[in-house]
Amino acid sequence: MNILLLDVYPDVDYRISKDQNGGYGTANNYGKTIFTTLLKKLVNKSIDFPPLYSVQVLGELKSVNHVIEYAKIIPKNLDPYDFIIITSSIVCHETEIEAIKLLKKFNKTIFAIGPFVTSNPEKYIDAGAKVIRGEPEMFFHKFNLSKKEIDNLPNSIENLKVIDINDLADPGWEIIFKKYTPKHKFLGNEPAVNINASRGCPYSCFNYCVYPLQQGRKLRLKDPEKILNEIRNLKKKFGVINYIFRDPVFSIDRKHTIKLLNKIIEANLEIKICIETHLKNIDDELANYLKEAGVKLIYVGIESAVEGVRKDSKRHSEANDKQIEKINYLEKIGIKVKAMYILGLPTDSKESFSKTLDYAQKVNSSYAQFSVFTPYPGTPIYKDYKDKITTKKFEDFTQWQLVFDHPNFSKKDIDNIMSSAYRKYYLNPKWLIKYFKDKLFLK
Ligand code: SF4
Repeated sequence: MNILLLDVYPDVDYRISKDQNGGYGTANNYGKTIFTTLLKKLVNKSIDFPPLYSVQVLGELKSVNHVIEYAKIIPKNLDPYDFIIITSSIVCHETEIEAIKLLKKFNKTIFAIGPFVTSNPEKYIDAGAKVIRGEPEMFFHKFNLSKKEIDNLPNSIENLKVIDINDLADPGWEIIFKKYTPKHKFLGNEPAVNINASRGCPYSCFNYCVYPLQQGRKLRLKDPEKILNEIRNLKKKFGVINYIFRDPVFSIDRKHTIKLLNKIIEANLEIKICIETHLKNIDDELANYLKEAGVKLIYVGIESAVEGVRKDSKRHSEANDKQIEKINYLEKIGIKVKAMYILGLPTDSKESFSKTLDYAQKVNSSYAQFSVFTPYPGTPIYKDYKDKITTKKFEDFTQWQLVFDHPNFSKKDIDNIMSSAYRKYYLNPKWLIKYFKDKLFLK
């Protein structure tokens, strides 16, 4: 069959990623001050990669000889396609709905896929799509339905197929590379792809986090040999040396992580890696393995420096001093850390966020990200917020603006605090000295 995978985005001047935030997506709209505008531009031109679940779907369909194309805008001629698959997200929601309505005028069967449509199918169905709920790569694994069978599918398809992640096809990167070269310039100027070594996260912060909605709370591990083969192929075919591991918590299973790192080290692949993990799962020994395998950048969630604020949102972290110790060690051995903080958690206040900002400056990691707490439809915590949402557009759920009535902050407070947090952090003399020292010694 001829299939189109459509991945549409609104026309904005900031970076949108549908892969991040458990596939709901993030939109790096940091604000309108001079400093945040510059930051927005830098990130927009530095990072771009497609949602990994969509690349996996491309791979599944290609592996059973369907002809499949990837596009970010609707092609003029839709005649060649037997059906269309559209990615879903919260950050491009209204744009996706408009695209579905337009495609329906051409009488096309449209499947909407991804974590957002899994938890929020109604508007996609109303617009005319059939929604696939659950991991779409499982649904399209060995896909062989006839046109008639496709037409007879219900509008809401609960995917009940359970396939071991080690039995899935290789992701369809060759189809993406025909259209554009994914990048992550904080790792390097060469092509960059997102990849995973595991799926699922059992931690208690699922209360507000969307990752478990996409992947479940049960940990599933990918065979290190399969990962190595993917990397070898991507390096050989497209010269990819930058890899962004999109596991919710990369080092969650220490044994599996060390096995994978050892394989990468032994294969002498000379690749550069970015991971996201929880500081609880890192110690000096593991840090040294990560360094040796080529990890250059680690994202860690700190969320808040105030124990009570963290506890209230069911976030379990290490003691503040321990976190600083671990981050210092990682940076000392040459791994850059992006520490991520959240403004406006349910019990956060101006005073507690000021403590978080002081703490961030004390941590002084190579990068810091300040985002705004966002209650996502589908997460358990959303029930407490659904009547307090202050915006009508899901595309406003960027993670950088307040979308609900917060007891301690107005929307304006959040905008001002956010801009000032970025300015104070990146113009702090302590951070600037570290930055120029790094540049000077080319660390
Ligand atoms: S550790 Fe918490 S925040 Fe991170 S992916 Fe797991 S549930 Fe989400």
